[in-house]
Amino acid sequence: MVYYPVSDAKLYEEIETEKPGWLITARQRRDDNVNGQALVWKDSIWSDIKPVFMRRQADKCVYCEFPLGGRSTQDVEHYRPKSRISVWPTGGTALYEFTTGGAVSNGYYWLAYDPMNYAASCKDCNSALKRDAFPILSNRGAAPLTVLKLNQDEKPLLLFPFGDWGDDPAEYFVFDGIFVRPKSGLEMEKQKRARVTIDFFRLNSRHNLLRARYTVLGLIWANVELRQTSTSAATVARAERTILQNIIPEAPHTLCARSFHELMKSNPARAVELHEEALTILKGLGYFKIAGP
Ligand SMILES: [Zn+2]
Repeated sequence: MVYYPVSDAKLYEEIETEKPGWLITARQRRDDNVNGQALVWKDSIWSDIKPVFMRRQADKCVYCEFPLGGRSTQDVEHYRPKSRISVWPTGGTALYEFTTGGAVSNGYYWLAYDPMNYAASCKDCNSALKRDAFPILSNRGAAPLTVLKLNQDEKPLLLFPFGDWGDDPAEYFVFDGIFVRPKSGLEMEKQKRARVTIDFFRLNSRHNLLRARYTVLGLIWANVELRQTSTSAATVARAERTILQNIIPEAPHTLCARSFHELMKSNPARAVELHEEALTILKGLGYFKIAGP
């Protein structure tokens, strides 16, 4: 997870350029929904402005950073569910020592057409995992509270790394090799948010994510070594560029790459150890069985 900062004014400007008139229609839909106290409008005009979010997020899922492919592989995600809210975690046994909010039959219907409630996400994160859930620490807000007010009052447990009204995951997470964990020394509320976000999106157990992060680790390692050992200025420059391309926000799995790059500089022996551990884990998951080392 990595942060995509943008002001609401700038986002609205980009939406207006992408689809002139969309904001006016959205405002009308919103007012109708507020007056009707339900999702009176359900048409998915949010798809019309999906490219704005895709561009801002460099074609990566807002939650898991997996690259988003063609238009069918991603959704415009409503951070706060628009039609109903179901309880999470499901299954009865409490995972946590704190409550995560109850169910609501009509959801955050007044935010269905609010771009501050949108981001682009992969089908795994949105359709398979998030669905109608929206765990919170405090009390559930009601219409017509704004996103900003709700963020303050409800204390949402899932990080939302988009926009100036969102969260910077670098304040919450650090990576140990291919695994993400809450940063040490976090205050209690931040620690809860980090834990829930990792569990909710299964950021440490989705095999495709672990595999993709391993590739990033390998790239960083190889190029840091090349930068240190090569006597060719051109090779060093190329290695430098490749490292940079893997730690900028546009790169998939940026935070993982950054953590590993930092470790390569501060404790290279540990970095190599983590890389080897990751390989062992991936082999255990069935990777590199066909023709791998
Ligand atoms: Zn995702």
